[in-house]
Amino acid sequence: MGLIQIGRREKDGELDVITTTIEKAVNWARKGSLWPMTFGLACCAIEMIAAVSSRYDMDRFGAGVFRASPRQSDLMIVAGTVCRRMAPVIRKIYDQMPEPKYVIAMGSCATSGNIYDSYSVVQGVDRFVPVDIYVPGCPPTPEALFDGVLKLQERIMQKRVFVKQPEQVKKAVKA
Ligand code: SF4
Repeated sequence: MGLIQIGRREKDGELDVITTTIEKAVNWARKGSLWPMTFGLACCAIEMIAAVSSRYDMDRFGAGVFRASPRQSDLMIVAGTVCRRMAPVIRKIYDQMPEPKYVIAMGSCATSGNIYDSYSVVQGVDRFVPVDIYVPGCPPTPEALFDGVLKLQERIMQKRVFVKQPEQVKKAVKA
């Protein structure tokens, strides 16, 4: 199931008891219930849509429930070319998402601007939102997106839930 078992007892050949920490259980629940925000910016979005189709079935990874509201989403998949006029809108959507939230930059455009080194294209979405995972390719395949989702889930399992992260402590000291 992905939940790390720290100890277990078997009775009559059947699994009887599973023990773990609350932190691991919370992280396991979070990684298996990612709700991506519904939006796409360019051709990469078509690959993202294909990833949700029955052929690829993104639901297998617990990340197939796309929401139409940032208030109900915890995963932003930035799929496509990010133009300068779109940047503040993306940031606003990101700010409206509840914590904990994650960002995947899907494709060369979202990652680095791709070949569009022009005044109108942002050279990477990480200039205005924090990116957790970068998915390479132009376009990246649905399988590449799945690889990104799996890597994000690995990172979620390593998060501290009940102990403040060093950056959270820093922010609290500054405030
Ligand atoms: S990375 Fe390639 S496929 Fe994706 S939005 Fe840019 S040009 Fe289109």
